[in-house]
Amino acid sequence: MGTLFEKIAAGEIPAEFLYRDGKCFVIRDIAPQAPLHLLIIPQKPIRSLADAENGDCELLGHLLLIAKRMADKYAPGGDFRLVANSGESAGQSVPHLHLHLLAGRSLAWPPG
Ligand code: AMP
Repeated sequence: MGTLFEKIAAGEIPAEFLYRDGKCFVIRDIAPQAPLHLLIIPQKPIRSLADAENGDCELLGHLLLIAKRMADKYAPGGDFRLVANSGESAGQSVPHLHLHLLAGRSLAWPPG
């Protein structure tokens, strides 16, 4: 059992870790939607942002700062977008909270 991202964190599914600390890790999305498409994933398997609680405040802030650090490193000087799909109808396919970091092309608004 466990989510796809728990299996990746445990090494059961291979992935290259671009960043890792005690709270989160960063991998490349397997189906990139932009030249740079990273996933910032907490170790803690919170189902979605809708399931985050007050006690997750520090963790959520940490994810944002790591996303910024990844943008600085992999898209230096460029614009970027952060996305957190929450729920199936919003496009969430993996029920383990994560941030998408997209960069390297113009991004339309509103999204689909
Ligand atoms: P979401 O649809 O917002 O839940 O995002 C889940 C993302 O995980 C999708 O963009 C998938 O392409 C991505 N994904 C699925 N399996 C893998 C994998 N094994 N390694 C990296 N990314 C994956």
